Amino acid sequence: KLSDRLNAVANNIPEGARLADIGSDHAYLPCYVVKKGTVPKAIAGEVANGPFQSALEQVKEEDLTDWITVRKGDGLEVIEPGEVDCITIAGMGGTLISSILEKGKSKLEGVSRLVLQPNVGSFAVRRWLIDNGWELISEEILKEDGKIYEILIAEKGEPLNAYHEINLENGILFGPFLLRDRSAVFIEKWNAEVKNWQRILKQLDGAVQNDETDGKRKELKKKLEMAEEA
Ligand code: SAM
Repeated sequence: KLSDRLNAVANNIPEGARLADIGSDHAYLPCYVVKKGTVPKAIAGEVANGPFQSALEQVKEEDLTDWITVRKGDGLEVIEPGEVDCITIAGMGGTLISSILEKGKSKLEGVSRLVLQPNVGSFAVRRWLIDNGWELISEEILKEDGKIYEILIAEKGEPLNAYHEINLENGILFGPFLLRDRSAVFIEKWNAEVKNWQRILKQLDGAVQNDETDGKRKELKKKLEMAEEA
């Protein structure tokens, strides 16, 4: 059984899309969607040897080698331009996800949907999408095993559409759809963040004052103001 997190990613892969799952680890996601019949074929990309071997084994074990190709390589270098319709990147930090997209830009031509699940730092992903002509079409937030995950779904379009009538900076940090929904999980996540920021701020107040601590304090105060406003 797939985790709720990967299941939520899977549910946002369009029916019939050719898929590339980048940073696939055990290739659980491509195996699941191919078996389910959601996608006709998939590529599982992995940069690290251990996870690459796990992916190969899993695909073999599930008898899916005719439908899933496991490729070793950095980010989007494992796909050819025009080869896939949908790319999933899950379970990494937002900065890493955006750097994979940035480095692989030339491979995104012809890709119609991105399903991205940053574990932390989703703002970096939203920023990249805006800067590169991708429109956020929906977002999800969920809690599993005590951890909170966000899923960002984007298609080529008008990047600022999603931020209509929302302060852009707030939207990028909190997620425009998540901010409008204000689900219980969303509130829980940001209450915990606020508590954490307040704790760090308190520590900084007791620490030596220099440019660095001043800068950090300013940044935290700004985030706290944003959270309050939101
Ligand atoms: N996507 C799976 C999931 O969500 O359960 C696995 C997540 S795992 C924590 C992250 C995987 O991404 C690791 O197996 C790591 O080797 C891989 N990875 C990290 N950077 C990568 C890159 N630049 N290109 C391809 N894979 C990468």
